[in-house]
Amino acid sequence: METLDTMYIDGRFETVRGREILTLVDPVTEQDAAQVVLADEEDARRAIAVAARAYRRLAGSTRAERMDWLERLHRVVAEAEPELTDCMIEEYGGPWRFSNPTARRAAASFASARRLVADYPFEREVGGARVRMEALGVVGIITPWNASYGFVCGKLAMAIAAGSTAVIKPSELSARQSALLTRVLDRAGLPPGLFNIVTGRGETVGAELVRHPDIAKISFTGSTAVGKAIARGAADTMKRVTLELGGKSPTLLLDDADFIRAMPFAAAAAVMNSGQACVAGTRLLVPRRRLEEARALIVAQFDSLAVGDPRDRATQVGPMVTRKQYERVQGYIRAGIEDGAQLWCGGPGRPDGLARGWFVRPTVFGEVDNRMRIAREEIFGPVLSVIAYDDEEHAVALANDTDYGLQAYVFGADLERANRVAARIVAGRVHINGLHDAPEAPFGGFRQSGMGREFGVFGLEQYVEPKAVLGHDTRL
Ligand code: NAD
Repeated sequence: METLDTMYIDGRFETVRGREILTLVDPVTEQDAAQVVLADEEDARRAIAVAARAYRRLAGSTRAERMDWLERLHRVVAEAEPELTDCMIEEYGGPWRFSNPTARRAAASFASARRLVADYPFEREVGGARVRMEALGVVGIITPWNASYGFVCGKLAMAIAAGSTAVIKPSELSARQSALLTRVLDRAGLPPGLFNIVTGRGETVGAELVRHPDIAKISFTGSTAVGKAIARGAADTMKRVTLELGGKSPTLLLDDADFIRAMPFAAAAAVMNSGQACVAGTRLLVPRRRLEEARALIVAQFDSLAVGDPRDRATQVGPMVTRKQYERVQGYIRAGIEDGAQLWCGGPGRPDGLARGWFVRPTVFGEVDNRMRIAREEIFGPVLSVIAYDDEEHAVALANDTDYGLQAYVFGADLERANRVAARIVAGRVHINGLHDAPEAPFGGFRQSGMGREFGVFGLEQYVEPKAVLGHDTRL
């Protein structure tokens, strides 16, 4: 069995000093897959010291240098797309159709950041002052397990674009993907210390990043509970934070929507990344008078989902990442039944023919009250709650009756009306009549879905701070 025991600092692989060993389990076979020796606080401090030194050296990097670094990172990650895809499928169980685009997006994020650096006005005149958009310092990057490459590369690309150095703490559950990605990023031959990668637990390595005075900003993607702890911890040293957190996104079918065309999108939104997606559309809002029609169509969609081996390119839903996640989803399915929702399809246990692996049955609950746990809490599995509404006002009220505000989906024949409704939904992104890809549009949440935005120019601006120099043209 593979043992992973290194971290990447100052452009080198070093053995971690931490002692704790974590065994990673293959989510399809339930066999032990790898052992990870986790880095500890001391390892984190070494990485922070290196990144701080590198920042002092590299803070004055030019636009051309940053563009060159981003170009090189883009090239090595793009070249590694097949091996990155395979590793994500193997370690995490992400179906090929999700894992491959994740690897491609990871590479694309460097190309996108390079374009931004080319055009971004780092210096401008404002109100008689010369304003320079300056890097913040060392950025701490903390990421979850559900699309590891995408988060690590997206955040690193922005840190480099801004002129920062970084210490990255990927999820301990993505240790194999992180080890591979580190080897790939190392091939770019960037200045030592520009980025450093330390895999350890959140409570140790992650907490040290949040606490340490030499970290100027934390860019975090993960759960709302941990996001709140980070926001509290960051206040002590007044760190900047970008928090991309959870969601309970509504898919709103307006009463004039073509349900036959909309339902495949609604199902795909609900089960993307096997349901382990912060942006999953997990509440389907349906006009009461068309509930039976919606039921037949959404159940047909869920019943026809291909669940199984993520290596099979036809697979739409793979296993949950760990036994713990499997049990959590099972717990929510039981909660839905206990709370009185109607089980329309799926239910507890594994799908037929899958006796092994952390597979769950794609499940639709009908007659869901928006106050039930399955309608309020993030399940992070292929479980959809169908909620009936009376009229447009009621639909918008239900869509917004959540602690979250990450994403929403609206379907309707009258485009003007669909846009009007979209404008009333409290969410960082609203998709109308489809699942769209706009990698440079801002991404992030309202309310407890987070703070700040990622991607494109809004993303870059979370990594820089304006400095105004007054009298820059004044001679004495
Ligand atoms: P998590 O919050 O448990 O962990 C995320 C990361 O934070 C991990 O690297 C973890 O080790 C670290 N961490 C844990 N405790 C910490 C602490 N006290 N201090 C610092 N770091 C700490 O989330 P997860 O289970 O890995 O991922 C699933 C969650 O992520 C879901 O809630 C999902 O909605 C969210 N998510 C959000 C987005 C988004 O962009 N909004 C995207 C993907 C996932």
